[in-house]
Amino acid sequence: MIKLKRTWCAVLLGLTSSISLAQFQIIPEPADVQLGQGKTKSLNVIGEKINSSLNNEAYIITLTPKGSLLEYATPAGKKFAEVSLAQLAAQLKNSPEGIPIAVIADQPQYPWRGMMIDVARHYLPLADLKLIADTMHYYKLNKLHLHLTDNQGWRLPVPAYPKLQTISSKRDEMEGNKIPTEGIYTKAELKELVKYCKARNIEIIPEIDVPGHNQALAAAYPEFFCDPEPGLKVRTTIGNSNNLICPSAKGVSEFYQHVFAEIRDIFPSPFVHLGGDEAPTDKWHKCPQCASWRKDNNLPNEAAQMAFFFDKMNTLLGKYGKKPLFWYENDASIYHPGYTVFTWRINSARKAVEHTKKANLNLILAPSEHCYFDFPQLPSHDKRGWMPVTTLEKTYQFDPTYGLPIDQRDHIKGVHCALWAEYLPTIDHVLYRAYPRAIALAEKAWSPKKVWSWENFQTKLHEHNTFFLNRFGHSLERTNTNEKPFK
Ligand SMILES: [Zn+2]
Repeated sequence: MIKLKRTWCAVLLGLTSSISLAQFQIIPEPADVQLGQGKTKSLNVIGEKINSSLNNEAYIITLTPKGSLLEYATPAGKKFAEVSLAQLAAQLKNSPEGIPIAVIADQPQYPWRGMMIDVARHYLPLADLKLIADTMHYYKLNKLHLHLTDNQGWRLPVPAYPKLQTISSKRDEMEGNKIPTEGIYTKAELKELVKYCKARNIEIIPEIDVPGHNQALAAAYPEFFCDPEPGLKVRTTIGNSNNLICPSAKGVSEFYQHVFAEIRDIFPSPFVHLGGDEAPTDKWHKCPQCASWRKDNNLPNEAAQMAFFFDKMNTLLGKYGKKPLFWYENDASIYHPGYTVFTWRINSARKAVEHTKKANLNLILAPSEHCYFDFPQLPSHDKRGWMPVTTLEKTYQFDPTYGLPIDQRDHIKGVHCALWAEYLPTIDHVLYRAYPRAIALAEKAWSPKKVWSWENFQTKLHEHNTFFLNRFGHSLERTNTNEKPFK
């Protein structure tokens, strides 16, 4: 709860102490709203001040008959106050009688509120990523995670390795659709995106997946892999590749030094996501070089090799001032205490909360049953044969507390959604599936449990549709017929 120092407002407005939902169409629902007497027809900012008692992202808006007063401690708090004001302005436009006088005192539950965009499977140009950032900012999401490398494409420029551009960034088709895809960002574009996002209080988290999910790299530099198949190409089908980075192969360490140096130059975030998921170790088991690496370092098996490899990568990243993030593989033993992991495997987050707490890991919640937005939203949607239907309501049912007391979940740093893009070839497909579910997720990441209401959320969302359409060029309505077909 924010401790209000109501130097301006309490007496002035004759505040009531009730928490009142549905008075304002702000999403995520503010942490605390106290209604005054009467209404206002003006949102003009008539005063601003620094209130150093507030947290980093917190703000207070006092709505008075003459206009609004803002309080915040940081530029982030100011930005979020402005976002809420913009949403109130949209509400006022449809409320000729005015909107209630009130004090809105708001701050997030979790500092990490993220969205992962998979530009490896389908490249998205810079303008599309900016549009995504705009939508995120409007709902106070603050981490844009770019999945830059995978079996089906490599999008990070690393000039010392030109075949990343000439080979790894190109693909003939996907699942037989005969549609070629290619693209790699320039350093200038990524720096521009960083700046654009920073102005919206969004941090970009780059992801370079290791040791698996790397067939695009293997197509260009097979010498970095255990027993590479001859003639390997950038993958044109979904699914995993069994090609793993060979940790002790000649040139591998140097390669990642170059990759991390580029990342350091482009992305100010202290984090680099290293993936680490879905890496079947058959090739490590059979590789003579890996066998001698295990022997030299007293590693009894491939799981120990994975832990050792992660620690090596962590040490290397440390030289560039960065810390790793990992997709959690439900085995806490392969991560060093203090690492930050993302739980994602379906219906396993509750256990992951428990196990990661015991193992002293930081946790970010991205349970696929609520947070994988490539999954269809309606039963009639194309699910490519396997994806579980994840309705808006199912996302809204997500409870990041898992009903646990705070001392059993104080290692949870936030909430994250993912848009894997094997079947999301364009920005239209991405936004269609991201929204409105990402708005529900934003409310679960920002708002305290006491103000969650599925009914209120639906009412607000309905009111947001026109504005979202006008501002971002996409409707929030999802029907059985309005989805763009996959190709
Ligand atoms: Zn090997």
